[in-house]
Amino acid sequence: MKSNACIDVIIVGGGLAGLVSAIHLSKQGIDVLVIEKNIYPKHKVCGEYISNEVLSYLQSLGVDPLKLGAKKINRFMLSTPKNKVIETQLPLGGFGISRYTLDHVLVQKAKDVGATIIHDTVLDIQFSQNQFKITTKNTVDYIAKMVIGAYGKRSNVDVALNRNFIKNKSPFLAVKTHLKGDFPDDLVALHNFNGGYCGVSKVENDSINVCYIVDFKSFQKFKNIQDFQQKVLYKNTYLKNVFENSEPVFSKPLTISQLSFSSKKPVEQHILMCGDSAGMIHPLSGNGMSMAIRSAQMISQLLIRFFSEEIKSRTVLEKLYKETWNNEFKRRLNTGNIAASLFKMNGFSEFMMLGLKNFPSLLPKIIKQTHGKPLIV
Ligand SMILES: Cc1cc2nc3c(=O)[nH]c(=O)nc-3n(C[C@H](O)[C@H](O)[C@H](O)COP(=O)(O)OP(=O)(O)OC[C@H]3O[C@@H](n4cnc5c(N)ncnc54)[C@H](O)[C@@H]3O)c2cc1C
Repeated sequence: MKSNACIDVIIVGGGLAGLVSAIHLSKQGIDVLVIEKNIYPKHKVCGEYISNEVLSYLQSLGVDPLKLGAKKINRFMLSTPKNKVIETQLPLGGFGISRYTLDHVLVQKAKDVGATIIHDTVLDIQFSQNQFKITTKNTVDYIAKMVIGAYGKRSNVDVALNRNFIKNKSPFLAVKTHLKGDFPDDLVALHNFNGGYCGVSKVENDSINVCYIVDFKSFQKFKNIQDFQQKVLYKNTYLKNVFENSEPVFSKPLTISQLSFSSKKPVEQHILMCGDSAGMIHPLSGNGMSMAIRSAQMISQLLIRFFSEEIKSRTVLEKLYKETWNNEFKRRLNTGNIAASLFKMNGFSEFMMLGLKNFPSLLPKIIKQTHGKPLIV
């Protein structure tokens, strides 16, 4: 692919949203270039529990997580900082697979079906005269008819595009590790502690994914991650038990900061935003990856109609995408935000647990509000 040729679709970012779009579009004969700054395979900070709503769609693209050893998960456990606990069946269930494996398999599939993947950092995206110019760190300019922004929750591209949310302060920090030890294959647990919450579930190679989010203010009083875990997380005896009865797989945990859940726009400067670039749901809902995959499917279906001239103009395409995005995700994002802010209130999770114990059928209903229906393929 020559850099000065006009490419049908450039996808900025090769995570879940970018790679799924690349596979879907390439399978329909659309010319796709993915620009990804990192090299695969790579571990990522993520809880690695994916809702079943996207399973059949992934399988239809030729990627079957269950054949890669993903753990089937159908039970959910919630505990409070004072060790009150409730368990329920998950309404739809899901599976556990590491991003190390999933992203790597997706990129192989994207290449197999004809997408071009290059490793470079996108610095800027400019739209003029009905086409895009993409500038990269390796000083190559690419020209494209369409750009999908799939570069995740927070990127230098957001700064270059001067997006509104990037100006807001983001007080959250996330830590992820893999452990070896005993943990049920079919369970995802959400354990609360003062200042945050921690997800625990298994992935394909029998590792236990432990991933937590904490308010930076709660964290900064402690010397380091180990100190914080022992003095804060261990007060939740379920978490203490997970850490004390397992061995770390990584030499040190992975961390990310500046997590923002501010609202974003699904179309910005004519770029079709996909996955976390369009909007990020609180990880406690365990639905961010499904949303990334679902938005990739939505964009791909619309772009196929655009390139076949069934959708006549860019304006109509953008309007349709905004409408579909809002219909599909607005409710989930709002419920996720409300749940997360309630959890942050001191003592709320204990109070909520009393309610859930009395009305156990409420919990699957709340979970349903942050999830979608299985995708039609
Ligand atoms: C702590 C935590 C726990 C989570 N747990 C879960 C969970 O259990 N279940 C769930 O469903 N969701 C979870 N999520 C959410 C989930 O991780 C995201 O929603 C999902 O990864 C979004 O996929 P994406 O493709 O939009 O972004 P990403 O997977 O982040 O991919 C973006 C890609 O863009 C690349 N990129 C960025 N900038 C540039 C640039 N300038 N040039 C080129 N490439 C660039 C990055 O390298 C990256 O590969 C969690 C999130 C966090 C933070």
